[in-house]
Amino acid sequence: MIESPSDLQTWLSHAEADPTLMEDFQAICGFGGRLAGTPAEARAQDWALERMRATDGRATRVEVPYDGWSCELSALELLDGSGQVSAVLRCQALLRSANSPDGGLEGEVLDLGEGRSEDFARAGERLHGRIALVRHEYPFSSGHLHRRRKYDMAVQAGAIGFLIANPLPGGGPLSGSSGRPVNGFGIPAAYIGDADRNAIAQAGAYGPVHVRIRIKGEERLDSRAAITVLDIPGRSGQRVVLSAHLDGHDLGASALDNASGVAVVLAAARALTPRISQADHGLRVCLFSAEEWALAGSARYLGGMDPSERATLALNINLDTVAGDDRLTALISDYPELAALIAEASAYSGVPVDCHLPLMPNSDHASFAHHGIPALRLVAGFERPESRVRHILSADDQPGVVREDELRRALRFTVAMSWHALNREI
Ligand SMILES: [Zn+2]
Repeated sequence: MIESPSDLQTWLSHAEADPTLMEDFQAICGFGGRLAGTPAEARAQDWALERMRATDGRATRVEVPYDGWSCELSALELLDGSGQVSAVLRCQALLRSANSPDGGLEGEVLDLGEGRSEDFARAGERLHGRIALVRHEYPFSSGHLHRRRKYDMAVQAGAIGFLIANPLPGGGPLSGSSGRPVNGFGIPAAYIGDADRNAIAQAGAYGPVHVRIRIKGEERLDSRAAITVLDIPGRSGQRVVLSAHLDGHDLGASALDNASGVAVVLAAARALTPRISQADHGLRVCLFSAEEWALAGSARYLGGMDPSERATLALNINLDTVAGDDRLTALISDYPELAALIAEASAYSGVPVDCHLPLMPNSDHASFAHHGIPALRLVAGFERPESRVRHILSADDQPGVVREDELRRALRFTVAMSWHALNREI
């Protein structure tokens, strides 16, 4: 592959100026939050397959099973000293939360603050038989403790329920999964907003606070996650996999997480596919679903793949939440050799991107890394809790929090990085 540097720069600038990038982004947001298993997600999947086929007619759909669940009831009430309802609070059940007993789960709330391991240690036996209340943390930072770890600690300490509050002033409930396996033990678990966390704290000024949690969910064990796949073999037999997840949560429009990544991957595919015949390696583009279900879609896809096919996947470039801040970071999953690729692509594209080495199992790249495939996640707002990325998982994850220039920078970098990867020893 011999091409002059100025030709490549011209091509990169054309790629960055993709005329339908914003139209695609708005279209994806227009389907709504795209919770896996809902009609909105199904419509978005059909649209994505059409868009990918418009790029290359070889795009296909693969379906993998996953353990679905749907929430039928999610309610929270604050009780007074005589057990009467004193206020109705808002809550959002965690995906695959355990059901409450008929009539609801009543219990005393123990506020553990952040809900770090030292907070649980301090509470000790007191949490047994009570409802743990902790805080959600900004997920894109090296020191962050994931909701599922806090939930697990609450279960281990003998808590009977789990509430996790949005720490942002005025912020509403958020969405996320409990990670509870099918038929696995669990406790009723839900997100609450900042105002209702305050209401609980105020009630606590007069003595122990009791609440009633009512959660009822239905197992959807025959669920199938659709994955749009475009595979273009190259000369070497090896492939670079470019991916993003299309599913989201139903509180907002899942614009940051992850209409941003899908729109950029579609545009990058449009730029790259006509040139694969000149590249050393092949390209596979995957739009996953059920990522928000503890990465079930990508995990099942890779786990069910013939090992000889999996061995051809040399690198995964996963885009998840690539707007909302002007700084991009590559989470390189304990593959230090990927730092050179990021540095080259940064220099080549003029888009500075930092690297974070430790594996962060917070998106589909972790499913690839799990199988020994070098994998990275491109993410915006890493270590920037004040950025607009703070709106992920909330009702405020709407198209207006994403800026066009952020999407275009992510696109320019992704195309440069992919092109380097398609033409280097991997
Ligand atoms: Zn995501």
